[in-house]
Amino acid sequence: MLDIAIIGGGTAGLTAAIYAARAQLSAVVLEKFYTGGQIVNTETVDNYPGLPHISGFDLSDALRSHAEELGAQFRMEAAEKVQYRDGVFEVVLSEESEPICARTVIYAAGAHHRTLDIPGEQEFLGSGVSYCAACDAAFYAGRTAAVIGGGDTALSDALVLSRGCKTVYLVHRRSAYRANAELISRVKQAENIVPILDCVPVAIGGTDGVQTLTVKHVPSGKQRTLETQGVFVAVGMKPNTEMLEGVVDLDTSGYVIADETGTTSLNGFFAAGDVRTKPFRQLVTAAADGANCVHAVEQYLTAHQ
Ligand code: NAP
Repeated sequence: MLDIAIIGGGTAGLTAAIYAARAQLSAVVLEKFYTGGQIVNTETVDNYPGLPHISGFDLSDALRSHAEELGAQFRMEAAEKVQYRDGVFEVVLSEESEPICARTVIYAAGAHHRTLDIPGEQEFLGSGVSYCAACDAAFYAGRTAAVIGGGDTALSDALVLSRGCKTVYLVHRRSAYRANAELISRVKQAENIVPILDCVPVAIGGTDGVQTLTVKHVPSGKQRTLETQGVFVAVGMKPNTEMLEGVVDLDTSGYVIADETGTTSLNGFFAAGDVRTKPFRQLVTAAADGANCVHAVEQYLTAHQ
């Protein structure tokens, strides 16, 4: 019986592992793909305090090494289900593995990319459609790419692409971006980023790979077709909380309803990072959640000895 099952090995889960190890609590981090979470593919992280210009990969690596150095345990397996009975959580893994039993759970499974759900998006995935500019920008050197979205990710992606691309269309459904002021100012200064405002994407076309993106101007309803070899979708994230339906209270967008301490509607079940309801989803707030959850776990375990 563990003190904590930490589900998810991103910034929140790794920070929870560090704090759990330091608090001498027994814990295991369950991660299905690779530790590090969303930032693994981020080219440069410029707002993690004290570590300016660090690559997302290096930051993930440092977090994992730090946790390992303190004795944190990892299992590269997906959690399939969480069940709660008589004060014990059972985390069900694949059929071949025994479930993990723990007195508490810190759920830090993060979020995944939202899709556009337009014709061509699935068809050209990997041959022109991408969700990761840092991973795929190099394929578009000297060519044209379009980025969809108006948040921090979309504008960062447009800037990454603008270094190598001839032209970058930045397609946003409104007239104002929601990204931070510094990114907006850098985008405005980039001569090869062409804003396509008040437009929604309606179809991605091509034969062997992407050749066109058709967009609709929302106020007029008029459509136009842009010639582009790449479409980078950056329209936000969806929380990875499917397995929690009926287990714990979720909001209408699927985020776990949790406060600053990670406390949820289910005693002993805590949520950290991008999966929980919060005003600002950032690495630093994810890390803070991981620490706060372990503190809350310690108080819970003391009260339920
Ligand atoms: P986001 O802030 O939720 O922005 C998503 C963008 O996509 C919005 O502009 C939204 O339009 C647009 N959008 C949503 N659905 C759409 C659809 N179906 N069709 C067309 N456009 C659509 O997501 P994000 O940019 O991925 O950022 C997520 C979080 O990570 C944020 O908290 C952000 O600050 C953080 N982040 C930080 C950094 C950094 O360097 N510090 C980098 C990346 C992300 P509306 O504006 O109309 O809603």
